[in-house]
Amino acid sequence: MSDYKGVMVFCEIVEGKLAAIATELLGCGRRLADDLGEELSAVLIGSGVSGLAQEAIAFGADKAYVVDNALLKEYETDAFLSVMEKVAKEAMPQIILMGQTNVGRDLAPRLAFRLETSASLDCVELAIDPDSKLLQQTKPVYGGNARAIFTSESFPQIATVRAKAMTPLQKDDSRKGDVVTVEAGLDASAMRTKVLETVVEEVEGIKLEDANVVVTGGRGIGGPEGFQELEELAKLLKGALGASRPPCDNGWVPDTIQVGLTGKIVSPDLYIAIALSGSSQHLAGCSGSKNIVAVNRDPEANIFKEASYGVVGDWKKIIPAFTEKVKELLAG
Ligand SMILES: Cc1cc2nc3c(=O)[nH]c(=O)nc-3n(C[C@H](O)[C@H](O)[C@H](O)COP(=O)(O)OP(=O)(O)OC[C@H]3O[C@@H](n4cnc5c(N)ncnc54)[C@H](O)[C@@H]3O)c2cc1C
Repeated sequence: MSDYKGVMVFCEIVEGKLAAIATELLGCGRRLADDLGEELSAVLIGSGVSGLAQEAIAFGADKAYVVDNALLKEYETDAFLSVMEKVAKEAMPQIILMGQTNVGRDLAPRLAFRLETSASLDCVELAIDPDSKLLQQTKPVYGGNARAIFTSESFPQIATVRAKAMTPLQKDDSRKGDVVTVEAGLDASAMRTKVLETVVEEVEGIKLEDANVVVTGGRGIGGPEGFQELEELAKLLKGALGASRPPCDNGWVPDTIQVGLTGKIVSPDLYIAIALSGSSQHLAGCSGSKNIVAVNRDPEANIFKEASYGVVGDWKKIIPAFTEKVKELLAG
């Protein structure tokens, strides 16, 4: 372990900017590095990304490793894996953090294999054990019904972290840090895949995964008309609309807004769960929410066990009255 020092964050870059998950991981990485009394480094991989090094430092990094190469314009597994392996072997961090995103889920286990270590995916809490100094990696298990804490005895300790589970630091442009340029050392012929086209999912309003407020309806909403009422409430609260699986299966709403084990995972500040029972498969997608408010006519519904606040009754009476009140309050 003594050969391994510091915390490293793999920073995802979206449309030329640090992704929200990167700033969240830097906030978490800063706390872990401080607890260890060691350095926090950021890794920026892409094409034309050098300018982001100072931004990563402003969000908490002591050092930024920049790998800037035209072959790294789009995420490509072989290329990013080879670069991350190179950086990790040079820097020897004891912890590597990535987002629980399409990229992080692809990269983390492969990197762990290359570095002959393990990776814990989908963590929602990370801490340093005060005695062993090992990383305690907390993640939901059994479909979100329980949480397990893992530690790894091999190094580096690699974890992916769920979006919005961590809080970014306030950006401080006066922070100073080192910028280290690393040669990608890529062989284009060794890259076995290439991105032919990127299709951006069209989303009206705020993306479900990014929303601070999510208003979700279940089977008890009864049809697509009911979801229009929920959507109105979501818009008033500057949030996004979600659904449990039956409304998606029934075609009342698009599949893209399904929350749960086989849908999206969200961790908003406020999750309003309306007319859904709170199955373990649904909770797997929303149990990381800071506050759950449940509306259900069945006082025994499982969702009330997870909720911070609950209203027992018919949503058709409760939601219109609540929406009117929100409008009144917003009107001042
Ligand atoms: C492998 C697998 C993966 C799955 N993945 C997912 C997933 O990703 N997401 C997901 O959601 N599900 C998933 N499911 C399905 C899951 O098991 C449940 O069937 C589903 O979550 C139930 O949805 P629901 O709570 O909307 O419906 P129900 O369980 O039928 O609950 C409806 C609720 O609405 C309440 N209600 C009815 N009318 C009213 C009213 N007028 N006012 C107030 N309350 C009312 C009822 O009291 C009831 O509690 C998965 C299942 C499997 C097997």
